[in-house]
Amino acid sequence: METRYICTYVHCSHPGTNRYEMTFKAESIMDQKNVATPFCPFCKKEMLLAPAVPSDCVHQTTADCHAAD
Ligand SMILES: [Zn+2]
Repeated sequence: METRYICTYVHCSHPGTNRYEMTFKAESIMDQKNVATPFCPFCKKEMLLAPAVPSDCVHQTTADCHAAD
């Protein structure tokens, strides 16, 4: 089980075709509330939490979330 964050900034300077991703091992996260929001090292923008499963998707706060409408 991993927690994944994605940089969704359109003009991110991350080299590559995919967006920059950062993953944390669940074991390293003792308490969700103690985890600071990670920032992209390339564009310095706040990274969004990627949904582990589609049902975790919350529009506008979750990366790779496709609105139902
Ligand atoms: Zn970025």
